Amino acid sequence: MDVYKKITSSCVLCEFNKIVDLHHLDENNKNNNLNNLVGLCPNHHKMLHDFRYRKEMLELLKEKGYKTSDNKNHEYIHLTT
Ligand SMILES: [Zn+2]
Ligand SMILES: [Zn+2]
Repeated sequence: MDVYKKITSSCVLCEFNKIVDLHHLDENNKNNNLNNLVGLCPNHHKMLHDFRYRKEMLELLKEKGYKTSDNKNHEYIHLTT
C-alpha cells in the first residue's frame, strides 16, 4: 500500500495534504495502474465530479500532464489517509 500512500500524500493541484482522495483518471476503479491514479483533495475531487467544474478541472489536470477521460460512469472512491 506504500505506493497508494505516496499518491495520496498531497493533492496534485493545490498540494493540500490533510485529506487526499484517490482518483482514477480513466474513471475505471478497477484499473489500479499507477499512471491511472492521482491524489486530489476533497474539494478538487468533488469539483472534478461536478459537471459545473468538470471541464475546468480536466483542463488543470491536462496542464499538469495527466491523461483524462470524459467517461461519466464513475464510482466515487473516498480514501482518507
Ligand atoms: Zn486540491
Ligand atoms: Zn474520482
